[in-house]
Amino acid sequence: MPIATVNPATGETLRTYDTLSPEAVEEKLSLASRTFDTYRTSTFFDRARLLQQAADLLEADAPDIARVMTTEMGKPVAAARAEATKCARTMRWYAQNAQDLLADEHPSDQDVKDSGAARALVRYRPLGVVLAVMPWNFPLWQVVRFAAPALMAGNVGLLKHASNVPQTALYLEDLFRRAGFPEGCFQTLLIGSGAVEGILRDERVAAATLTGSEPAGRSVAAIAGDEVKKTVLELGGSDPYVVMPSADVARAARTAVTARVQNNGQSCIAAKRFIVHEDVFEEFRDAFVAGMRELRVGDPLDEATDVGPLASEQGRKDLEELVDDAVESGATVLCGGQRPKDLADRGWFYEPTVLADVTPEMRIHREETFGPVATLYRVTGLDQAIEVANDTPFGLSSNLWTGDEADIDRFVQDSQAGGVFVNGMTASHPALPFGGAKRSGYGRELAGHGIKEFCNITTVWVG
Ligand code: NDP
Repeated sequence: MPIATVNPATGETLRTYDTLSPEAVEEKLSLASRTFDTYRTSTFFDRARLLQQAADLLEADAPDIARVMTTEMGKPVAAARAEATKCARTMRWYAQNAQDLLADEHPSDQDVKDSGAARALVRYRPLGVVLAVMPWNFPLWQVVRFAAPALMAGNVGLLKHASNVPQTALYLEDLFRRAGFPEGCFQTLLIGSGAVEGILRDERVAAATLTGSEPAGRSVAAIAGDEVKKTVLELGGSDPYVVMPSADVARAARTAVTARVQNNGQSCIAAKRFIVHEDVFEEFRDAFVAGMRELRVGDPLDEATDVGPLASEQGRKDLEELVDDAVESGATVLCGGQRPKDLADRGWFYEPTVLADVTPEMRIHREETFGPVATLYRVTGLDQAIEVANDTPFGLSSNLWTGDEADIDRFVQDSQAGGVFVNGMTASHPALPFGGAKRSGYGRELAGHGIKEFCNITTVWVG
């Protein structure tokens, strides 16, 4: 895949980039390694000051970088601005909290004595150069939620961003440089995915984090495993959204629309499978379908647009194949199910779509729909709802709508996902850990859990 900005709303190639030569990659690796040698001993105070500056710059740049993101991958421009602001907030959160999160831990006096030590403690030290392989869907956020904790912990970062968001990738490198981080703390590598293996095997690279598809995650984890290097994987999701009779059904249906079509439907934590109790099925279905029909699909740079194009032609083709397979096997199209007629001649648009009568044999039942397509299931009770919710290879997050505390306890106990969100849609917050179970990956980002993933948890024992 060439490294290029191709506007998904028009299909027009706006800029292309040469990939880095092996010599240029070597220079960047060497710089990263040298920088780590000094940066690792910097103080939390200094790192926090730099990250606060990065946050200030990013906030000031938000309108401009939002337009760049929208032009590269098609998200509505208001959502792109909100993404930039959220990144700035998260940088500030880590700037303020990293020192406490990584403070030395002291076992009890008795435990110290039992270990035979005069004193003993646990210290969180940085691991080194961390390679981040990142996707295009939240081109700032996916990177910042890695970079902010990694830099605060004293690590340095190498970014291999998705090939369709090179301008955003270069912006990020420039942002950290302008904020005053030492040269080499955060570098962007304009390389194809084929060059990842060599970098990952390089002894100067300590660990890797990847957000993206399962094949990409499997490849990076296999290589890192072979090299005995730590990885964090955040892969796909097919989050269930369960609605029980005691829920506020109107609110659940309104939120369901946003939960499904956020980011043009291309979010790992988007709700994708809507599992509704039979007592409120018709009420939910009618309100949900009406909400999906009302969405304005069009130019993502237009402030009034709700749903822009898919990020790539291949992405739309993959989505169309899933829908066509389901329809051929008997699924009912309640709305959408095709390209919008008025936009058919340009860009990679797809109509917000709801499918009912989905059965386990259909591909769409088990695969991730990365676009504005929802599947609707009717169930007879919470037992069956949980069974359908867990009937997926993924386990990123899950949603429950209910007015009943017992339902919440049961769902939290039985959901096979890394997150359970009740009476609201799944979203990430800097202070709450984020990550999945099953084929959605392992490890956690954000909060204290995220910053500790790339630390050498060091036992200090003094006799
Ligand atoms: P990919 O997983 O292919 O891309 C994500 C990142 O991984 C990119 O930087 C990509 O580089 C890189 N990459 C791809 N293959 C490898 C590899 N073998 N070794 C190392 N790095 C690799 O996602 P796609 O863009 O192709 O999207 C395909 C599907 O993945 C989506 O439909 C969706 O289901 C899922 N996905 C999930 C995301 C999430 O947030 N969890 C985000 C994006 C996609 P390059 O761009 O150069 O290929």
